[in-house]
Amino acid sequence: MSIKKNKSALSEVEGIKQPSIINPLLKNKKWVSSKNSSVIKIVKEIKKTNIAFLSKAITLIESTNVKHQKKATKIINACLPYANKSIRIGITGVPGVGKSTFIEVFGKLLTNNGNKVAVLAIDPSSSINKGSILGDKTRMEKLVTDQNAFIRPSPSGESLGGVARKTRETIILCEAAGFNIILIETVGVGQSETAVHKMVDFFLLLKLAGAGDELQGIKRGIIEMADAIVINKADNENEKATKLAKSEFTRALHLYPLKDNNWQPKVMTCSAFYNKGINAVWKIIEQYIKHTKSNHFFNKKRNEQNQFWLLETINERLKTEFYSNTKIKIILKKEINKVNTQKISPFNVAEKLLSIYFNQ
Ligand code: GDP
Repeated sequence: MSIKKNKSALSEVEGIKQPSIINPLLKNKKWVSSKNSSVIKIVKEIKKTNIAFLSKAITLIESTNVKHQKKATKIINACLPYANKSIRIGITGVPGVGKSTFIEVFGKLLTNNGNKVAVLAIDPSSSINKGSILGDKTRMEKLVTDQNAFIRPSPSGESLGGVARKTRETIILCEAAGFNIILIETVGVGQSETAVHKMVDFFLLLKLAGAGDELQGIKRGIIEMADAIVINKADNENEKATKLAKSEFTRALHLYPLKDNNWQPKVMTCSAFYNKGINAVWKIIEQYIKHTKSNHFFNKKRNEQNQFWLLETINERLKTEFYSNTKIKIILKKEINKVNTQKISPFNVAEKLLSIYFNQ
């Protein structure tokens, strides 16, 4: 800036150069049309970490158009041999606990260490709220402009099953694109935590000290799922309370029997805002990966997860087909009335409906 320009007291001091909002990886990339790109071309570009093509392929996964879905399936199958080589980490916690703040500093730590980080989110409520509250790019300003990070908000979907499937498939594409750490954010309400737990290697629960939700977490089995509990906002006047919470959680965790992987879940404190204790979290995750790889639990868990999603998909599909069948809908309505007036047992009705459905 010239001195001349700066003469007026009213002139603004030129601040630091603002980062562009758009991921720099998208720069100089022509708009990618999925229509004109063959599956081979898309897969080839994904493998080169071409973010424009990766994003487009994810859009195909998220599409409800049958043609898009068929193309997406071909892309996923072609990417499968190049997938599976990452560490998948689930991050959950109630709104306001500091998930975005944590992911921002944690993600930066990882990319600074030479990793490629993809941040995905699962938020089934996003279809109701018309837009995701998770994986929001504007909440991770530094990470979004990082060449080695890719952030994708939650797909909107009618059901948790649908959203989970799309996220699972997106993981495969991200891995094929060379992202070696996948962070999956979810909000600490409802069933989405269970879904995330079933698709990650390491499940991290973010907590607040003295928030009074400890019991709720225990009740809903969230604590049991956690491989580490990290109490965030361990700063300023909150530090003492977080220390106390740490010893309480540690005591509570010791009441649970050791899991089949022989891993004793860890309790830590951190301050995402002041970037304190973040490296220690990563060290624990590294320790966990080493531990579960050496006792072969790592691959066993991934295989179990694959089986789970296979069966879950069949269950969901059968249920949806059954209940949307016109004939079943009509008969079910009538039979429910009979059940309500004690004319017939619910088990008889169930048998009758199932045999009608399978014999039609
Ligand atoms: P999320 O809803 O779980 O994603 O939470 P956010 O990351 O949006 O954080 C919610 C609020 O807590 C924001 O105002 C953050 O600045 C603040 N916050 C996040 N982490 C910390 C922390 O470590 N210490 C303090 N003091 N505030 C934090």
